[in-house]
Amino acid sequence: MTEEEMAWDLSQLVENTDPAFIQKQLKHMVAEAEKFREKYRGNIGDLKVENLLEMFEARDDLILQFEGAVKYCFLRYSANSTDAVAKQLNEAARKSYAQVGQAMAFADIELGKLLSDKPLLTDEPVLAEYKHYLEKISRRTPHMLSETEERLVILKDKNGISAWEMLQSDWLSTRTFDIEIEGQMKTLPYGKMVGLYQGPNRDLRRRAYQTVYENLGKDEIIWASAVRAVCEDHIQTSKLRKYPDPITQSLIANDVDKQAIDSLMNVIEKNVGSYQRYLTIKASLMDLPKLTNYDLYAPLPKAPDKEYSWKEATREIVAAYENFDRQISAWIREMFAKRHIDGEIRKGKASGAFCSSWLAGKSAYMLQSFNRRMGDLFTLAHELGHAIHAYLYARAQKPSNCHIGSCIAETGSIFGELLLAEHLLSKAKTREEKQAILAHILDEFGGAAFQVSARFFMEKELYSAIAQGKFLDGETVAKHWVAARDKISGDAIDWLDVMKWEWTKSPHYYMANYRFYNYPYVYAQLFVYALYRLYKEQGKEFVPKLKKILAAGSSKSPKELSAELGFDITSEEFWQKGVKQAENFISILDETMSD
Ligand SMILES: [Zn+2]
Repeated sequence: MTEEEMAWDLSQLVENTDPAFIQKQLKHMVAEAEKFREKYRGNIGDLKVENLLEMFEARDDLILQFEGAVKYCFLRYSANSTDAVAKQLNEAARKSYAQVGQAMAFADIELGKLLSDKPLLTDEPVLAEYKHYLEKISRRTPHMLSETEERLVILKDKNGISAWEMLQSDWLSTRTFDIEIEGQMKTLPYGKMVGLYQGPNRDLRRRAYQTVYENLGKDEIIWASAVRAVCEDHIQTSKLRKYPDPITQSLIANDVDKQAIDSLMNVIEKNVGSYQRYLTIKASLMDLPKLTNYDLYAPLPKAPDKEYSWKEATREIVAAYENFDRQISAWIREMFAKRHIDGEIRKGKASGAFCSSWLAGKSAYMLQSFNRRMGDLFTLAHELGHAIHAYLYARAQKPSNCHIGSCIAETGSIFGELLLAEHLLSKAKTREEKQAILAHILDEFGGAAFQVSARFFMEKELYSAIAQGKFLDGETVAKHWVAARDKISGDAIDWLDVMKWEWTKSPHYYMANYRFYNYPYVYAQLFVYALYRLYKEQGKEFVPKLKKILAAGSSKSPKELSAELGFDITSEEFWQKGVKQAENFISILDETMSD
């Protein structure tokens, strides 16, 4: 396979790739957004339902018309930041995009006012396609402050909470750490130190964690001040906004309700034993009496060193999806054939992987640096799962219904990874191969469903500590962290003492308007594992149900959608199905040990 076939073809996004033409398109987009503003600003309250519909459709059309040009700029830059033209286009697109956002911001505010006067508007048959969009605005509106107050909140955050966030991020990106590697002293930035956590050398892993967290711990006074200020600020702002609970803001933002999240987290708490069972099995696969925190995400020592060519990767991924559904595998083939995937490794390319939907093309583009390892195969399956999600909702929904909430956003992607795991397991010839596949998915599941839950439990404890008038110094926050962490892992993991400072490195604790950011990760894992369990129970009958969930985009709340398909996310019984599926994988792994 040539290099060219591993690089994406972005020319399909635009009529003409001439930078001057694209710049012109961006200007045209801003002008159209301003026209929209002139036409509707100050008038939304007086519009008839038919005209409201017209307004929604005009806005959606505007998105579809210019989406390709904006996407072209962003994607070209992410594929190669050293490309001077891409850099210019990226800047221009960012600026234009922000201008459009500002020009259109009035609409939701005016809709909010209209909806508080006429709450029944959400039931208007003419606006049926926009029903849930309106419902979401209705849910937010009672917590909005006056325009002046909202502006003050933005100003206060800019030099308040956001300054803490910047401080934490600057700390991580500017500090260096001294560490000995193969007999040589090295001075490494944080990003490189993190890279050592998953390496094969156990002693180096231990020293990497020790060095990073020792240093973070030395500045505990900064992190504690920051966390205290962020939590206090959230409590005060929640009072002003009349949120009944510190978690309410996040529930509204994620389009979920408290009952579902309570059930989810209860199920996690009740099933820590299953996770600990996996940790014990992983310890014996690593020939250790017990795991330490620096073994948690380490590769299995006997994992096969298998490499995959791009061609082999393509074949395996298509086959994995084909077992599930032919329409889906045809779309996967199309992603490869039309070169919507950038897998090539090159200088200046964005790190990590992502998938970006292309609504107007009813398709998507994805990027990763393909390093030929099994992990890269899983990344490919994951991002293509996002692409399939986009293929389905772009066909079924207006752009206003394509704002996928974070609890649902990973449904296609994690499901795709499970399909790949199933396919690879069916082909695996040795038990080491099987163990590597199962450990890969269970490490990910355990990390996102269980380890991440510790952050949720700690956050909850911090708010009740403050409510009880307790002062949160560094050692006190660390105590809450250790308690939350141990609730999850019990005594299945030995932690280095310095790991009590683990909470200090999570950026989200320092971000403005980002409280209770973690449970969507837990939700996503358990939701997909539960769906996969249903697939195993119901077989082909389940396929259209998953497609319906993905095709719904954001046109329905997760609760409503699930109810339509016959399951109840507010019940613990549903979430328990997810655990049951994980237990099934754990048992298969356990059996390989006695093969
Ligand atoms: Zn993803």
